[in-house]
Amino acid sequence: MTDPTRPDAVRQLLERSNRLGSDPAVTNYGGGNTSVKVTVDSPATGKPVELLYVKGSGGDLGTLRAEGLAVLERDRLVALDSVYRGVEHEDEMVELFSFCGHGRGGATPSIDTPMHGLVDLDHVDHLHPDSVIALACAADGERLVREIWGGRVAWVPWKRPGWELGKAMAELSADPSVIGAVLGGHGLTSWGATSDEVEQRSLRIIAEAAAYLEEHSVAEPFGAEVPGRAALPAEDRRRRAAELFPHLRAVASMDRRQVGHFTDSDVVLDFLTREKLAHLVSLGTSCPDHFLRTKVRPLLLDTAPDTPLDEVVKRLGELHAEYREEYSAYYRRHATPDSPAMRGADPAIILVPGVGMFSFGADKQTARVAGEFYVNAINVMRGAEGVSTYEPVTEADKFAVEYWLLEEKKLQLRPKPKALAGRIAVVTGGASGIGLATATMLAEHGANVVVADLDEAKSSAVADELGGPDRAAGIAMDVTDPDAITAGMDAAVLAFGGADLIVNNAGISRAGSLAETSTQDWDLLYDILARGSFLVAKAAEPVLRAQRLGGDIINICSKNAVFAGPNNVAYSSAKAAQAHMVRLLAAELGEIGVRVNGINPDGVVRGSGIFSSGWGASRAATYGIDESELGKYYANRTVLKVEVLPEHVASAVLALTNGTLPITTGLIVPVDSGVPQAFLR
Ligand code: NAD
Repeated sequence: MTDPTRPDAVRQLLERSNRLGSDPAVTNYGGGNTSVKVTVDSPATGKPVELLYVKGSGGDLGTLRAEGLAVLERDRLVALDSVYRGVEHEDEMVELFSFCGHGRGGATPSIDTPMHGLVDLDHVDHLHPDSVIALACAADGERLVREIWGGRVAWVPWKRPGWELGKAMAELSADPSVIGAVLGGHGLTSWGATSDEVEQRSLRIIAEAAAYLEEHSVAEPFGAEVPGRAALPAEDRRRRAAELFPHLRAVASMDRRQVGHFTDSDVVLDFLTREKLAHLVSLGTSCPDHFLRTKVRPLLLDTAPDTPLDEVVKRLGELHAEYREEYSAYYRRHATPDSPAMRGADPAIILVPGVGMFSFGADKQTARVAGEFYVNAINVMRGAEGVSTYEPVTEADKFAVEYWLLEEKKLQLRPKPKALAGRIAVVTGGASGIGLATATMLAEHGANVVVADLDEAKSSAVADELGGPDRAAGIAMDVTDPDAITAGMDAAVLAFGGADLIVNNAGISRAGSLAETSTQDWDLLYDILARGSFLVAKAAEPVLRAQRLGGDIINICSKNAVFAGPNNVAYSSAKAAQAHMVRLLAAELGEIGVRVNGINPDGVVRGSGIFSSGWGASRAATYGIDESELGKYYANRTVLKVEVLPEHVASAVLALTNGTLPITTGLIVPVDSGVPQAFLR
């Protein structure tokens, strides 16, 4: 017997959705929804029942799976019209969708469910293509739609998604000569008798809209290039972006800590050089998906690309204050007593002529998608201005969507963020041993992690393991080379918008008596351990200061920083320097809310490159044991008799940075299973 809850039509629906969702010209990330209606024998009654399979709330068409579909009994959904109390009461209909579920009902039905369920044809696509939204946001969109399709594609003036819009779709689709509708200020809905038919119709409408824009557009929809606003050359742009980013992150994070994403694609840079820039930016985005992610409008920095940094930062402060004031005024203008509280008045998109676009979100994915949506919005504005005038939905309509109680409920249902969500960690020597365990644990607890090690390939492989570009980045950084540190810190900042949590872990080991220790050995150990930690802290300090978000520096020192073990003068004294730096920097950086702490591990054999590359063998020989016994041997020297693992050190980093010890600074934590000679006094 075939599974009645997964008919073949569902497979077709998923395949169609994945195809449509994989092309950004067809729909933006997370935007749009698709559906199929299919009749099966109900397991409960044995009688035929018509089911609606429709993409549920959240998720993305490109990766839609069966679990992402809501499954409703259509007759019950349609019957809800008998309890519909009119447009003022649309929102209460959403609560009623759950009374229409078939079986467990699948995913939570979205607000767009009526647009699918009330249409009588079996297959419906609702999409957000830039080309169609350009027409949907053109001042004379209705006329353009008539001119292009002559009634085969209808025009529906802006309506917030819901029951009313669903009814409008049902009415239009009852006319067999109409294959779809352009929804004013929003997107496209089309329908068909088969999955293939609706897909072909959707794609044809999108292509025809694009062709019309291409043929009829004026030469320069955004106006002429403004002299003095040209994009900086690529290298200078990156440098400037890296310098500015922490300051911009401070602006975007005044109410809530944000992570950033930088885009300097041709589309963005061209828009930023044009005459109409300031006017179009002030109009804001249009499609509900766009402005929910991008905020009602971006902040536009109006300084010339070559303005000295301190002047730019000063101007940024003024513009930020204005932005916050305007945003609060916008909230006050439209809020009603039952509106959700204001969600923060900082911008999500900051545009910097000559440099690029900086987008922000609570996590990297949200920040990246906000940027992608503003690129969608630029495309929409270019299309609309090419053939008409860009005219987004009114501010009141935008507010109604941004502060819609249903959107608020969705936000409330989000899982609580992890302890390190929104934090950006840089772990030197992060590709092996203690650094790798630390990078892994910080990522598991929500941090974005920059793995900084000698070998870029190794760092990148670790970053991929940690979850790829939305979670981690791998960079080459030799901590003995100040230029490499500057470049590495720039790369870290450009990857996520800044740096909050620096772990000075890179290290090597070399033992020997005074006579055996060469000057080169001494210099190398000091270069990596002491000078390296100093240089990385020095490069991170301006970033930490600019962000105004406090931060953490953790030095991975060693039990040897305290214990005068045999024949170890260079390594141990360099570790002591690294440890005392903890106290000195803690005293100095407290002023900007940066806490500096250290960890003294001992005998971490497992996973350690230091031990596996000769040091372990030489230590084992000294103690007269087999190398494989070394971990146990060290454990037996301790009070607790437990082998120290890289994860123990990583846990200490976590405890020092996840809010467990929020007012602790200048502390050095032993992670050694108890070595009395190394007890701190
Ligand atoms: P490991 O060799 O496994 O990892 C060290 C990492 O640092 C390597 O990936 C290496 O490529 C990187 N590195 C070396 N030189 C670098 C440089 N110039 N720039 C950037 N990266 C560089 O070693 P581990 O055992 O995980 O040690 C990590 C840290 O912990 C070191 O500072 C070490 O001194 C300290 N420590 C280790 C132990 C132990 O028993 N393993 C004990 C106390 C302290």
